[in-house]
Amino acid sequence: MNKTKPYLFMLMMVCCIVITTACLSDIKLPNIKLPEKETEDLIEWSYTGPGNPGHWGELDSTYVECSTGQKQSPINMVTEKIKSTDKRNEKVVPIEFYLQPMEVGFINNGHTIQITGINSHNTMTVDGKSYRFKQIHFHHPGEHQFNLSAYPIEIHFVHQTDDGSEYAVLAVMVKPGKENLELKKLWDIFPDVKTDTQIKVASQIDPRELLPNNIRSYRYNGSLTTPPCSEKVHWVILKKAVEWSQEQIDLFAKAFPNNSRPIQYLNDRPILTEPKDAKTEFNNNPNGSPDPSGSPTPKSSTAPTK
Ligand SMILES: [Zn+2]
Repeated sequence: MNKTKPYLFMLMMVCCIVITTACLSDIKLPNIKLPEKETEDLIEWSYTGPGNPGHWGELDSTYVECSTGQKQSPINMVTEKIKSTDKRNEKVVPIEFYLQPMEVGFINNGHTIQITGINSHNTMTVDGKSYRFKQIHFHHPGEHQFNLSAYPIEIHFVHQTDDGSEYAVLAVMVKPGKENLELKKLWDIFPDVKTDTQIKVASQIDPRELLPNNIRSYRYNGSLTTPPCSEKVHWVILKKAVEWSQEQIDLFAKAFPNNSRPIQYLNDRPILTEPKDAKTEFNNNPNGSPDPSGSPTPKSSTAPTK
């Protein structure tokens, strides 16, 4: 008989626990407002950490194209698949520039170094449409890839239609070599850390000095490579790279160890280039001696010489 007592005790204990738990579940907790996840709305897009490119599409409702878009940039270009006629069988026409030295402002916006033209009238014409020069910025390593290899730096010359609806971005690759003296004017005042205001550069900058002497290009339609990743960019990627000294490359690379978006799916987009016989030589040294090869220079590529 005594053996049943411990079981009775255990049964009572279990009942007490069940009743107590049931009672507690009815207790109304005081209405304490828990702190909201303060960081949730404040994650800024970046290249590493919680705001990295894999999350751009979730960071803001206006960034949704970064994850849902089908025409995103940058891309890898398989050069043997590039064609010189479009789907209407029309030949790709070389780009044209109207370029003059310009006053510029200079800023480290935390994502890159950006050089903005002040009252610039410079333009680029792509497929018969004129785009006004807006700003230059840089990526390290280069964003677009050629047969899966990238250059150390890629320069983006951002142009936009006057109504703001479309962009044409000229991408110029940089390889190690000679020092670029035009870039030196900017790199001499390089802001290592994020700056809130634009620095006015004392001397004018001649964008021709930042371009190669041949403007043969690869063209495709894509997006901005930073949020909001809008798919309204006509990409013009120059085949020929320009040279900067290793020190000039290193100065940017040290401040921006990685500000490059990973490559995106090409999907069914064609990549085009000018036909082999197209005139793509570019007089990027208007004050120097004429091109000894006697190659004609696109008329609109040169500003009036002094
Ligand atoms: Zn860019």
